[in-house]
Amino acid sequence: MFVKKTEKTKGVLEVVCGSMFSGKTEELIRRLKRAEIAKLNVLAFKHSLDRVRAIEYVMSHSGSKIQAFEVGDPKIILDLVHDKTDIIGIDEVQFFSNDIVEVIFKLVDSGKRVIAAGLDLDFRGSPFGCMPALLAFADNVTKLKAVCVECGNDAQFTQRIVNNMPAKYNDPLIMIGAQECYQARCRNCYIIDKSVN
Ligand code: ADP
Ligand code: MG
Ligand code: ZN
Repeated sequence: MFVKKTEKTKGVLEVVCGSMFSGKTEELIRRLKRAEIAKLNVLAFKHSLDRVRAIEYVMSHSGSKIQAFEVGDPKIILDLVHDKTDIIGIDEVQFFSNDIVEVIFKLVDSGKRVIAAGLDLDFRGSPFGCMPALLAFADNVTKLKAVCVECGNDAQFTQRIVNNMPAKYNDPLIMIGAQECYQARCRNCYIIDKSVN
């Protein structure tokens, strides 16, 4: 027997990935601002170690910004999203625990458009946390490239520099007293020393 389809439709997951400085946050903000122009109901989130902070911003390196909730536990996103929310933007999604994958699934299943932006690789050149799963489940993936600070080619790696030297694979994530920074680099210029310290 023919069964008429219900009105209810599922949403979509869009993932924006790439190295640091590749423009992920700019692209997320661009999509969210277009949605606001279309009078859609937008909610933005970014990761924080604290519980919840209401009035914060997702901000790009070039200065564009949009208001966002800072949340630590991904499940809080489900409490903050309401029926009227059409589009959910999540920045720095790689920092969330793996629970974010199920949270995003629930949102997409309930009809929301979710745009998740995050680093696909960590500074060690390994896939970052929840990103492989999100990339696999996504309806749509955008991989952005930065400009390599060494040679000017397209960069897809994030080089960690500690005391002016490329960080080693096994360097601790927090190095007290060390001067450190991150750079965008291409495959040729990216250096990761896997020898034990
Ligand atoms: P992401 O969120 O991917 O780290 P942002 O969207 O915050 O990136 O910032 C992108 C902006 O960073 C660029 O538009 C540019 O102004 C600036 N920028 C600084 N360094 C670089 C670089 N090496 N390559 C590309 N953009 C850079
Ligand atoms: Mg960013
Ligand atoms: Zn290069």
